[in-house]
Amino acid sequence: MPRPILATISIAAMRHNLSVARAHAPGRFAWAVVKADGYGHGLHAALRAFADADGLALVEFDRASRLRELGWTKPLLMLEGAFDESDVEQARRQQLSLVVHEMRQLHWIERATRASALDVVVKLNSGMNRLGLEPAAFRVAFERLRRLAAVRSVGLMTHFADADRQGGADAALRRFEQAAQGLDAPRSLANSAAILSLPTSHASSIRPGIMLYGATPFDDRDARALGLRAAMTLESRLIAVQSLAAGDTVGYGSTFRAQRPMRIGIVACGYADGYPRHAATGTPIAVEGVATQTVGRVSMDMLAVDLGALPQADAGARVELWGDIVPIDEVARAAGTIGYELMCALAARVPRRVVDA
Ligand SMILES: *Cc1c(COP(=O)(O)O)cnc(C)c1O
Repeated sequence: MPRPILATISIAAMRHNLSVARAHAPGRFAWAVVKADGYGHGLHAALRAFADADGLALVEFDRASRLRELGWTKPLLMLEGAFDESDVEQARRQQLSLVVHEMRQLHWIERATRASALDVVVKLNSGMNRLGLEPAAFRVAFERLRRLAAVRSVGLMTHFADADRQGGADAALRRFEQAAQGLDAPRSLANSAAILSLPTSHASSIRPGIMLYGATPFDDRDARALGLRAAMTLESRLIAVQSLAAGDTVGYGSTFRAQRPMRIGIVACGYADGYPRHAATGTPIAVEGVATQTVGRVSMDMLAVDLGALPQADAGARVELWGDIVPIDEVARAAGTIGYELMCALAARVPRRVVDA
């Protein structure tokens, strides 16, 4: 018998979330972002769920090949562009659209003698200072790419550092508009946060990521209020129950001490499954659909829950670590991180079940 842990991936939830993104930016080309194997949900599941997207966006060239093998014929946008010259050749063969965020990448494209019909997107650094060209180089790269016979189309893009804060992307948006002024090309700016909060950034194409998986890009607006549905449900079961006397402790380091007699359940899920070790006592969790909280330190294969609200619960009871009842964002907050990290960190040893519902 395998350990009772299971991640269920809902195609219907992901489809619904894409429709929410589209409803915020009607008529715009929608790139569904599927990097990191669809934010940990699996490339195949993402491919099925986002069949109606106009394109898929990612960073891994091996995954782009896989998507072509699996039959995806619509555009694929490589968000970090080529990592070396050979990637330009792969882009030609597999019709991958390449971001150019660095002059080196422009040189590779200019030198690619076999290249033809390349779609390229030039990226401006609008203040994140991670990837992207400065305004002057951005315009130079645009003009040079436009003149190349091998290049079929040139688009413009940037990525916001602070779109999750009210007004946080305003300065970056102004910088982009200034740098792109007069350039006749499609534009792509908006990540999930900007799709949901900054309509003036929707431009030609949107790039939703986290919202497609049913988590929030914001600190102060939860996924449910945004109309999103959890795409990943992580479940396990109680494999033991302990009765504690006042003064007894739980787990490594004895960080939790019972103030009064209490029952706790031991869940078959730990940090080796991708559950965050930093989730403190009090992290939300549900047993048999009833909301309760974790107690003590998370260990490699197990964690403990308070069964105070569940006097009947026994070994074998179902536990939701995150999903419809327990928002992944709340677990993330209790661990000092964000939903993105938890979904991407789901461990390979956790079996995944993909369901249509
Ligand atoms: C990951 C990524 C996105 C999606 O961001 P979310 O916050 O997950 O919506 C969009 N654009 C670029 C360039 C990205 O790298």
